[in-house]
Amino acid sequence: MTNLAFALAATIKHDGHGGIADLLSTPAEAAAWLAGHRDLVAEVLGGRLPAPLSGKNSALGAGLFPESRADAAEGVWPELVRIRRAVRALFARAVAPGPPSKADADRLMDLDAAVRMVNRAAERLGFERLEWPEGGEPVVRRAARTEDPVALLIGAVGRSAIDFLAGPDRTRLRACPAARCVKYFLQDDPRQTWCSPACGNRERVNRHYRRRTAG
Ligand SMILES: [Zn+2]
Repeated sequence: MTNLAFALAATIKHDGHGGIADLLSTPAEAAAWLAGHRDLVAEVLGGRLPAPLSGKNSALGAGLFPESRADAAEGVWPELVRIRRAVRALFARAVAPGPPSKADADRLMDLDAAVRMVNRAAERLGFERLEWPEGGEPVVRRAARTEDPVALLIGAVGRSAIDFLAGPDRTRLRACPAARCVKYFLQDDPRQTWCSPACGNRERVNRHYRRRTAG
């Protein structure tokens, strides 16, 4: 199961021409990304809207997600880009002593600031509590400290970053060492070096070419 913060970090990728593509370069792109990751957001928020919003909207989505409307996404877009910087700085720390992703290695956010940002975001979600209605199933509800959809969405990212970094997947995190690649990936097997077969093949071809030109 993918993690929301991990998915957010992956919105910076190589463009295939030696440059870097940002999949969140406009509010509309941010809205589309959120809409595409609504299941992961729902998972973090307990599969339901936090209590303050549940009265207004029964289905997770209405009101919380900016859909693909760029105007509605204007508030969440800069926040999403900011917390992505925090997540990527923490990922850079997680893969150390290996080198971090080349995309932002030279301009990483200060680690303390990154930890503070993630904690502050997650804090807005409030605490979890058990609800077990008579004759029903036990459910976890969050007593959110906010009704602000932006704070809830960014809070979900913060919460998932904490879960990821404090969870078992952190030790499998790697930065792909392929020349043009800037991806963080989860190593499936200790021998896996590249993020994808495509990166592995490209590197093998490059090495072969370098050996031939050198010899
Ligand atoms: Zn790669």
